[in-house]
Amino acid sequence: MALDPNCLFCKIVSREIPADEVLRDDHVVAFHDRNPQAPTHVLVVPTEHAAHLSDFTRSAGDDRAARLLAAASELGRRFGPDGYRVVINEGNDGGQTVHHLHAHVLAGRRMNWPPG
Ligand code: 5GP
Ligand code: ZN
Repeated sequence: MALDPNCLFCKIVSREIPADEVLRDDHVVAFHDRNPQAPTHVLVVPTEHAAHLSDFTRSAGDDRAARLLAAASELGRRFGPDGYRVVINEGNDGGQTVHHLHAHVLAGRRMNWPPG
């Protein structure tokens, strides 16, 4: 499990920085976003450092992206029984500000489309 000592979300994975956790296993940690955009807004991060979604999809049989989505779906059903949204902001144009891959799970209100 490789962590980057300069990465914010790696520091949350290692518990160097505290977070309000809702799920932790060998593959992912999920915690409440500190600036929530919905009544429930959690982030799901892999327990190893990877900046981009493409880092998890390079080889056939790599199931790390699937694990991230499985956790996002479990949390979506937990917090949004009537529906929820999963978002991955990728790169500058995608609005990514923390360069450790993460899925946002938003629930508790009706979501708009298209997103901003
Ligand atoms: P991005 O814009 O990279 O897709 O999302 C980064 C998210 O991380 C933002 O929604 C932001 O509010 C959240 N965030 C940034 N720093 C922290 C932190 O220290 N703790 C928590 N819980 N969330 C954070
Ligand atoms: Zn990291």
